[in-house]
Amino acid sequence: MQDTIFGKITRGEIPTDFLYEDDLCVVISDLYPQAPTHVLIIPRQPIAMLSAAGEDDQALLGHLLLVAGKMAKQLGVEDAFRLVINNGEGGGQTVFHLHLHLLAGRDMKEGELAQGLAP
Ligand code: 5GP
Repeated sequence: MQDTIFGKITRGEIPTDFLYEDDLCVVISDLYPQAPTHVLIIPRQPIAMLSAAGEDDQALLGHLLLVAGKMAKQLGVEDAFRLVINNGEGGGQTVFHLHLHLLAGRDMKEGELAQGLAP
């Protein structure tokens, strides 16, 4: 797959504050937040999109979910947050390096699921 801005960020080529990092992923604040809390959980391994993940990625995908839960606690939003994965251009994806959006701090009950996540 083609390199992306998230490839450069996860490799440390673009200086970015990591809210969390481990061997498998990093967590950063979204540059254009769509909610008071909006962070991105990004695997270091560049998978273009969720539908490109395979059986070998099972543990990594589980890890990303666990990190999302931990981040929600760390950010104090564990009781009310939303996780979003945009998949493909038609799904609203703009950066083709898999990532999870963790959104919180505004009403998530109204509107469509992807509300506020369109570019
Ligand atoms: P997607 O639309 O692919 O699901 O989400 C890409 C997200 O990355 C968008 O929410 C956008 O605001 C964010 N983004 C794009 N470029 C950068 C960047 O250089 N730094 C950070 N922190 N976020 C970015």
